[in-house]
Amino acid sequence: PPDREELGRATWALMHSVAAYYPHQPNVEDKRAARGLVSAIARLYPCSHCREDFRTEIERSPPKVESQEEFSRWVCEQHNAVNDKLGRQAFTCGDSGALRERWRFGSER
Ligand code: FAD
Repeated sequence: PPDREELGRATWALMHSVAAYYPHQPNVEDKRAARGLVSAIARLYPCSHCREDFRTEIERSPPKVESQEEFSRWVCEQHNAVNDKLGRQAFTCGDSGALRERWRFGSER
């Protein structure tokens, strides 16, 4: 089975890259799907203390899904909350250039 670290990296990669390609002007269905992705992870992530802490975080700061920039920043901040808990360095979330640089792949896939 995948180890915890690998699963974490894979899950963050999915969330950051979904956010990096999220529409600039999402419609109602896009927003519903973005919230659904977050709440599915919060409910089903296969590490119980991880998902419980994640649930607490998203209750405090619900997903911001009104634009690509907003959603990307929100996912970045959630990842920083986990980085902080694990004593790791924060990523600079205010700089959407850095987020795009890290999580977009040159062109749309
Ligand atoms: P990761 O933290 O997986 O990051 C991968 C890459 O993302 C980094 O190399 C960097 O390039 C980039 N990155 C880092 N921070 C950001 C950011 N803020 N925004 C954008 N990009 C960034 N592990 C635990 O041990 N305990 C937990 O409670 C826990 N909770 C988790 C909750 C969730 C919802 C998820 C998805 C994962 C959780 N994990 C937890 C796993 C943990 O976050 C890491 O994924 C894992 O420890 C591997 O860390 P890593 O150093 O390889 O890099």
